[in-house]
Amino acid sequence: RPLSDERTLKNHEQHRERVNCGKAGSAMVRTHTQIVSTRGQGDAHDITGVGAAAIAASGLRAGVATVFVVGSTAAVTTIEFEPGAIADLNRVFETLAPRDGDYKHHLRWGDDNGSSHVRAALLGPSVSIPFVGGKLALGTWQQILLLELDTQPREREVIVQLVGE
Ligand code: ZN
Repeated sequence: RPLSDERTLKNHEQHRERVNCGKAGSAMVRTHTQIVSTRGQGDAHDITGVGAAAIAASGLRAGVATVFVVGSTAAVTTIEFEPGAIADLNRVFETLAPRDGDYKHHLRWGDDNGSSHVRAALLGPSVSIPFVGGKLALGTWQQILLLELDTQPREREVIVQLVGE
């Protein structure tokens, strides 16, 4: 509706003004890319170190790290990275979107990875994590998980983008 659109636009402009009134040019952006080889559906990788290394190399002390996987059949989240929790997560996905289920996606492309797309959409491709004092503000039992959901091994491109100072 026009009224709410106008309001949104106005809010956006006010927000921009506030941003522009701050210390100009103090925030910096650093982008780091890492390739991770995976072995097919359910293969889990602890990529916490990729984020930590990107921060260390950047020289930034505080900000937000976005960890993102390129592609529609893999996902990034956080989890306690131990085999039990990984198996539990994969079991839940097998219930929600069974690999051998019937998927319209299979009819459309002759693909076999309908379960991969559904699982990836549910989990999402990225997490944003604050970093403080040059370190990710993760809990002790909270690691960054890259979960392969495709039915075949893939070369995954993981992007870590830092916005900070
Ligand atoms: Zn597909």
